Amino acid sequence: MLLFSTEPHPGESLYSLLLRTAKSNFMDNPNWILQNFKDFSTLELIPNEINWLSDANLKKMSEFLSISYQKAKELSFHSTLSQHQLAINSIEKNPWFLYSRTKCCPLCLQESTYHKKNWSSSHSLICTKHGIFLIDACPDCNTSFKIQSIVENKCKRCNLSIDSVISKQIAQSSTLIKYQRIVDGLFTPSNFIYDHPYINNISSFIKVLEFIANWAVRILPSEKLDLKVLSFTYDGNAKERNSLKNAKHIEQAICIYGFAFMVLENWPLNFYKMLNDAENSKKKDFFYFVDIIVPSLYNSELSFIAIEFGNFIAHEKLRLPNRYNFVCTEQIKLLNDNFNASIIHSNLLPTYSYEFAHKNINLVSSEDFNSFLIDFENSFTKEKLKERWKTSSIATLSILENKFLNNAFNFRSGSVNTWVIPKDSVIGFEKKLAAFSTQLPEQPITTRQAIEWFGPKNANILFDGILSGKIKFNFNKSIGESWVCKDEVYEFVSAVLLKNGETTGFIPLRNLVFILGVKKSDIIYWLRTGRFASFSEISIDSIPIINVNHFLDNYHTTLQLSMIYKIPIKRLLKKHRLGKVVSLSGPHFNDGQRLLFSRNIEIF
Ligand SMILES: [Zn+2]
Ligand SMILES: [Zn+2]
Repeated sequence: MLLFSTEPHPGESLYSLLLRTAKSNFMDNPNWILQNFKDFSTLELIPNEINWLSDANLKKMSEFLSISYQKAKELSFHSTLSQHQLAINSIEKNPWFLYSRTKCCPLCLQESTYHKKNWSSSHSLICTKHGIFLIDACPDCNTSFKIQSIVENKCKRCNLSIDSVISKQIAQSSTLIKYQRIVDGLFTPSNFIYDHPYINNISSFIKVLEFIANWAVRILPSEKLDLKVLSFTYDGNAKERNSLKNAKHIEQAICIYGFAFMVLENWPLNFYKMLNDAENSKKKDFFYFVDIIVPSLYNSELSFIAIEFGNFIAHEKLRLPNRYNFVCTEQIKLLNDNFNASIIHSNLLPTYSYEFAHKNINLVSSEDFNSFLIDFENSFTKEKLKERWKTSSIATLSILENKFLNNAFNFRSGSVNTWVIPKDSVIGFEKKLAAFSTQLPEQPITTRQAIEWFGPKNANILFDGILSGKIKFNFNKSIGESWVCKDEVYEFVSAVLLKNGETTGFIPLRNLVFILGVKKSDIIYWLRTGRFASFSEISIDSIPIINVNHFLDNYHTTLQLSMIYKIPIKRLLKKHRLGKVVSLSGPHFNDGQRLLFSRNIEIF
């Protein structure tokens, strides 16, 4: 156990207190107290990590030093970090506190020889009390200071008294003094004094600052980070793989944090300038920054940076009106989970595009997007529409894809395809149909039956027929339950299908099944027996229009005859049995399952 305990000084670090305790217990070598602690606790400490002690180990240290656990916590780095929700991955590489070196104020040391926690903050640059820059290395031999050298007040290598070093003064009116007062808020938490539209606590401030500083060194030429007014030059060596070096020396810290603070101070103009300078210098990291890093900021504490990036493209590059905010389409899925970036393909939302850093950036104005969201509240999905209309899924899709509904659009999110159909358009379409509603037609079938008959993929043709007055329509409860005339459906739809075949050169087998009123197997039989003329069976799913025409020019099926002569199929078959109508082929000739008549047949 120790003979004498020592009281901590204001703002002191734990390691500093431990070293002073060693001194007051007459230990010339600080390793002795570490050995003492090991005997006391069985813990072997690494000097650089004493300020990082926490939980049970910190408790042991507080007992060893005869101070309360609460007091010990105040002296440690972890307490400051957890207070401000600043996370770390590794103590050696963390961005918030220096690990192996420290800064100090020589004038503070003259007043009292101990190490202050604040000096180890990566972001501290100045002692605001004395109006001078902190120092972090011996001016004579350039050895960097460690906490032990500060508490001993002498350079480890050349024994120079650190408190005799004369450091550069800084005017109280300087922006960097303002900066340091904000950073000091890390250690006096109730006191956040910064007035910024997007930053309202010290934790955000420090994170934003670190972010801008880190990316500034990656995407800008190093001379852009020189702090010329105060004669500091950035040497370009403060970065590691993904972050800034922990062991930055003070000149580097002054340049890069000073730069980052000026970006915040003159927000957003200096940020725009940073982007323009980065664009000109074309560093590899810049493309990564634009492509990956900026979009990753949405929905984070730093989202205002991503939003401002959108405004930069809109205002600086596209010269769109300053009074509007713009959002990148990538951000849209975060603003409303019904939508994603494919919204740019909808014609409801004006989109502005610009290629920046090899990336196509698409923007929409927040105002347009918000009013669009209100419209969306008044819209149907395809599933809702299906329910309302009592139509099948494929039939509904066919109606949607054929643009019967104004401003309906769809977008894909993963494997899900979502339709957005404005209610106004749905009601408008229904009204239009209702205007064509007449009394119940002859041979009524429901539109649903009709669509199943000629195939749901062709559902749009039925509505073309109704809306052009070619197919009589009687509105009944829902669109799917409404009545249409069977003969007219056949006549209109088969004519359109044949016409489409003339255009594409083929008739899908499914359509031919409808036109001829037989089964697929019958058509295949007739194909094989030459009724379609010679035909190379490359695909049996589609028949070349030449072959179809050959068939139609020579033959009629029972359904065709029934439609042409307006004779119900039953009566036609009876006439055939009685020999009043003669077929060319059929079961009684042992030639196929169906009757086939000559095109030139006459029926009496
Ligand atoms: Zn000072
Ligand atoms: Zn020295």
